[in-house]
Amino acid sequence: MIGMFRRDYTWARAAMVERLRGQGISNATVLAAMNEIAREEFVDEALRMRVYEDCSLPIGHGQTLSQPYIVARMTELVLAASIPVKRVLEIGTGSGYQAAILSRCVSSVFTVERIGAFLDTAKQRHRTLGLGNIRYMHRDGFKGWPSQAPFDGILVTAAPPTLPDELKAQLAVGGRLIVPVGQQGEAQRLTVITRTEKEFRSQYFDAVSFVPMLPGEMS
Ligand code: SAH
Repeated sequence: MIGMFRRDYTWARAAMVERLRGQGISNATVLAAMNEIAREEFVDEALRMRVYEDCSLPIGHGQTLSQPYIVARMTELVLAASIPVKRVLEIGTGSGYQAAILSRCVSSVFTVERIGAFLDTAKQRHRTLGLGNIRYMHRDGFKGWPSQAPFDGILVTAAPPTLPDELKAQLAVGGRLIVPVGQQGEAQRLTVITRTEKEFRSQYFDAVSFVPMLPGEMS
């Protein structure tokens, strides 16, 4: 009968979506995804009460799930390409929340994580929620996922010190790479790299604070 005592977060989630609108998120697909995906499923029981607040939350292994605004903002930025965005690569699966949001906005999500334990939990959560269009890879995300490239969009959810060239190379023409670039301990800028026929263009958006992107893999 545990189900009887489960809290219903539907109202809190709707309030979060209204707040996102007020913060300037306007893409209807993104707002619908944020309203559909149960964010509380992606954190420990003890943190659930705070999951719809505008804050980041610990997810274990010293990592954090971004605040709702940043998840929505990055999703909106990756979707705002000049080509149809169908296949998106995420670096840094973590809790699996960002991948779940992406899975409601594009046809295929490819997500790469260096910590194996995160992948197992994320897969389980996605299965429970019935999200079937996500593929997983346990590896160092600096390498991307070359056999599945090119991607219409790439979203990096950990901060590399400089722009990762191998990820740029896996971007389709017209696609966008969204990445918080910054040295550890310094302010990071949400950077959008757009690939054109001839070059890569950079634009800079919100100041953000992501955990560092680290090389190598671990279980
Ligand atoms: N998108 C996640 C947020 C994760 S926090 C979510 O929705 O919960 C950042 C994640 O990036 C962590 O899980 C961390 O292990 C991962 N990460 C850091 N460096 C990485 C790398 N080189 N390759 C793949 N994942 C990396």
